[in-house]
Amino acid sequence: MSVSTEENKADIIISGAGAAGLLLAFQIAQEPKLSNKKVFLIDKTKRYGNDHTWCFWSKEQTPFDDILANSWEELEFLSNSLQQTFKLNPYKYKMLKSASFYQFIWQKLDSHPNIQFIETEINELVEVGEQVELKTTAGSFYGNLVFDSRFSQDWIKQITSKSNLQLQHFLGYTIKTDIDSFDPETIRMFDFRIPQAGEVRFVYVLPLSKTEALVEFTVFSGKLLSDKTYKEILENYISDYLQIADYKILEEETGVIPMTDYVFERKNGKRIINIGTRGGLCKPSTGYAFNRMMEDAKNMVSELVKHDKDVEEIEVKYAELRYQVYDAMLLDIIKRDGGKISEIFSQMFKKNPIQRVFRFLDEETTFAEDLKVMKSVPSFPFFISIFNLFRNR
Ligand SMILES: Cc1cc2nc3c(=O)[nH]c(=O)nc-3n(C[C@H](O)[C@H](O)[C@H](O)COP(=O)(O)OP(=O)(O)OC[C@H]3O[C@@H](n4cnc5c(N)ncnc54)[C@H](O)[C@@H]3O)c2cc1C
Repeated sequence: MSVSTEENKADIIISGAGAAGLLLAFQIAQEPKLSNKKVFLIDKTKRYGNDHTWCFWSKEQTPFDDILANSWEELEFLSNSLQQTFKLNPYKYKMLKSASFYQFIWQKLDSHPNIQFIETEINELVEVGEQVELKTTAGSFYGNLVFDSRFSQDWIKQITSKSNLQLQHFLGYTIKTDIDSFDPETIRMFDFRIPQAGEVRFVYVLPLSKTEALVEFTVFSGKLLSDKTYKEILENYISDYLQIADYKILEEETGVIPMTDYVFERKNGKRIINIGTRGGLCKPSTGYAFNRMMEDAKNMVSELVKHDKDVEEIEVKYAELRYQVYDAMLLDIIKRDGGKISEIFSQMFKKNPIQRVFRFLDEETTFAEDLKVMKSVPSFPFFISIFNLFRNR
C-alpha cells in the first residue's frame, strides 16, 4: 500500500487533460488567489495535434478569440420549407482547432510551475477520509479534491443502458477548390434538404476562404452508418448541392458524440467532481459542450476561491429541470421519428429571432420565451413525447 508524500500529493487533481480538464487548468492558472495551490493534471496522453474541431456561438469575447480558425456573423438555414440567411449580431459563430488550443494552453501552463502535467493511465479513484487516491500505472497520487473528466464510449453505453442514448455521428472533409466556391462570410449551419431516411440528417458548411471549407455530413440516430454510406452522401452533396466537381481533400474528420437524457452525476462522493462529458456538459439535444465547459470552469474556479478551506461545500450546477425535459422530448422524437426534426427546426428558425433560438439552446431563456419557442413548432410530436416520458418514468 502506498502513502501520500510531499511528491505525490496535491491540493487539486484534474483527471483527464482533454477539453474540460485543460479549460479548468487554464482557468485555475488565471486566478491569482489560487496561485499557491499545487495542481496535478493527469492524462494517459499529452495532446498536441488536430484531433478535434470545436465550434460554438458566443456573444462575449473568449480567451481563444485570437487563435480561432475562423468566425462568422451570418448563418444560412436550408430545408424544404425554409431557405433563409440570418444575421447573428451580437453573436458570432466560432471555430477553434485543437492544435491551436492545446499549444495556447500548454504555453500558458508552462509559466505556472504550481500546475504539473503527469502522463499516466488512471485506473481508479478512491475517496479515503479527507483525500482522494488516484491509482495509476505510475503509482498512487493524492488530492484534497479531484475533478474527473475521464470517459469512454463504452462507459457511456454502460451507464445510460436504461436511458435514451442517441448518437451524433459524422464524416467531414476540409476541401480546397481551384475556383471560388464559398461565401467566407456565411456558415451553412443546417442543410436538411438531403433525404432524411427517418433520421435527422443534415450537412453543414464552414467556409475558411472562398476556396476552402469544412463540409460535414451529420446524423442524429441510434445507429452508425457504414463508412461507404457517409462517404457517398457527403460526396454527392459536394457534387450535387455545392456543384463542385474538382476539389482536393485536405483533412477528413469522423466522430461520435453521445446524446442522452441520462442525468450525469456531477459529484461522485464529497471530493470528486465530474466535469466535461463525464459531468453531463454535452447538451443532450445538440452535442455542443465547449461553451458550457468554459462557463463551468469559471464557475468551478470561483467556487474554489469561495471554499478554499472547505472544498466539500463546493456547489455544482445542473441544467434546470425544464431544459432537461425539453432535451428528453427532442431525443424521444429523434428516437421515434427523426425525420420530423427537420420541420421542427425549420419552424423554430422561421418564427423566432435567431438570438432567441441561441438563448434557448444556451438555456438562458425565460419561461415566457420558452413558450414562444414551443408555440412556434409543430406540437403533435411533443405531445407523444410527454406521454412517453411519463410512461417510462
Ligand atoms: C468528434 C467530436 C466533435 C465535437 N465537436 C464539438 C463542437 O464542435 N462543439 C462543441 O461545443 N462540442 C463538441 N463536442 C463535444 C465536446 O466539446 C467534446 O467532446 C470535448 O472534447 C469534451 O471534452 P472532455 O474533456 O469531456 O473529453 P475529452 O476531450 O475527450 O477528454 C477526456 C480526457 O480523458 C483522458 N482519459 C480518459 N480515460 C483516461 C484514463 N483512464 N487515464 C488517463 N486519462 C484518461 C483522455 O485521454 C482525454 O484526454 C464534440 C465531441 C466529439 C466527440
